Amino acid sequence: MPSNKSPMYDVVVIGAGNAAMAAAMSAHEEGASVVILEKAPKEWRGGNTRFSGGLFRVAFDNIKQIDQVVAGRSEPDTVVMPTYTKEDFRNDVIRVTGGRTDLELVDFMIDHSLETLQWMSDLGIQVNYNTLSALTKDEKGRYRVPKGGPLRTNHDGIGLSDDWFDVVEKAGIPVLYETMALGLVKSDDGRTTGVRVRDNDGERVIECRTAVVASGGFSSSPEMRSMYLGPEWANVKVRGTRFNTGEIIRATIDAGAEAYGDWSSCHATPIDFEAPQYGDMALTDKSNRLSYPFSMMVNCEGERFIDEGEDIKILTYAKTGRAILKQTNSIGYQIFDSKVFQYLEPRYSTATPVEADTLEDLADKINERFAPVEMNKKRFLETARAFNDAIPEKVDITPDHKDGNSSKGLELEKTNWAQRLDKPPYRCYAATCGLTFTFGGVRVNTDAEVVDINGRRLEGLYATGEVLGGFFSFNYPAGTGLVRGSVYGRVAGRNAARYAKSNNPVSK
Ligand SMILES: Cc1cc2nc3c(=O)[nH]c(=O)nc-3n(C[C@H](O)[C@H](O)[C@H](O)COP(=O)(O)OP(=O)(O)OC[C@H]3O[C@@H](n4cnc5c(N)ncnc54)[C@H](O)[C@@H]3O)c2cc1C
Repeated sequence: MPSNKSPMYDVVVIGAGNAAMAAAMSAHEEGASVVILEKAPKEWRGGNTRFSGGLFRVAFDNIKQIDQVVAGRSEPDTVVMPTYTKEDFRNDVIRVTGGRTDLELVDFMIDHSLETLQWMSDLGIQVNYNTLSALTKDEKGRYRVPKGGPLRTNHDGIGLSDDWFDVVEKAGIPVLYETMALGLVKSDDGRTTGVRVRDNDGERVIECRTAVVASGGFSSSPEMRSMYLGPEWANVKVRGTRFNTGEIIRATIDAGAEAYGDWSSCHATPIDFEAPQYGDMALTDKSNRLSYPFSMMVNCEGERFIDEGEDIKILTYAKTGRAILKQTNSIGYQIFDSKVFQYLEPRYSTATPVEADTLEDLADKINERFAPVEMNKKRFLETARAFNDAIPEKVDITPDHKDGNSSKGLELEKTNWAQRLDKPPYRCYAATCGLTFTFGGVRVNTDAEVVDINGRRLEGLYATGEVLGGFFSFNYPAGTGLVRGSVYGRVAGRNAARYAKSNNPVSK
């Protein structure tokens, strides 16, 4: 009689994003039998990874190390970029999170960032220079890549995800689609022995010797968002996948893991006010509206509400969504004049701006376009006048790094890239808050073992990626989500495979 019992695997990987794929491949390299569970149907596979910009932040001392990762996919002398040491990376994480970060976990990630990207590149992930973030070229026509984000995968997150699926397929690792992990199964003595799943045939247990939890955060659970981030997050737009709903984070905590990190904050950016409720596969991250450092941004009351020029966008964008969420109607109007149109990210081309030759007309057109949401025209014009009066008539802009061109005398200064709004036409792009991913999760050690509050490992249970807490709080340096998943995924897969073998001599 044919058996309908599923085989026993050394390693079950829960999820099919970047973190999961790194874990699966590294376990496979150790000779383990591996299966990947993907809750989403095939056309929606790949989690937030698929929606991502594919930007990777890694530490390096010499550009030749980056050239080696790129491995000839582009000519080396087409880019210039400042070196980015481990110290630089560490300082950026500490600075943007206000020090609310686990430095042991972060240091491990940073120390292994470059070698992990090299490993991915060798496996066939098409990693390239991050020319997309370059706003200008130097005198030799080379892209000036900003400090900190040297690498980006070809075709962004879609390319990254497709490459990973190709790599695991070639390795013969099965991916079970529409298979949602519901919970973890343990032996009486606490070892992980299976994962309970729901698929199109109902419920069953997939038996295993170890499991790697790589199922993303809880950004798409309105229930968990309201509970942990606060009620104002209940209806927020989500930039990525609909499938990261946090049930396995909960199951892992129920199994004994310590809930770790900042559960009350998340990564959230300014996105197109008219963006859909969840990530759109045709747009992926192209609904971002991140050129606000060159704008004056106002709310419905016609008031500015942040220092738009606090720092380069990749160090402020992840907290700016939250600032917009808090405004009336969760809207921020980004106002530009024609002097800076050239510095708007190409992503702005996915929306039609409101445009006018005077600020008065602009205000009227804004109110027509976004009705019934209304901006206070009178106050907006006063704000613009005060803004212009606080800035010298002519300043040279240096878009790539902080230029120190600050307004003087405003209650809320714009501390860099301050330019008058004085060269028509004027354009407005309306932005709202888009939730990218959550920061709270479970605790692991630097072996990617899930641990309890006493630091004891949960036998045979590993985790990586967005499910991890302890890295970020309130803000985040761009390109760190993917590298975290890759570094800890590689470690999780390797250690899970070794654990499976050492505890089961019959295993391959
Ligand atoms: C629009 C956007 C742009 C971004 N850009 C960047 C960037 O350029 N650089 C960067 O570093 N970070 C970026 N990020 C963040 C980054 O993409 C994520 O943090 C990272 O991809 C998370 O990887 P992961 O593998 O942990 O989770 P995900 O890629 O989200 O994968 C989670 C997987 O788990 C599956 N899953 C969920 N629940 C279950 C379950 N119960 N059972 C089975 N499977 C389950 C999901 O379907 C999915 O396959 C971006 C995110 C978004 C949304």
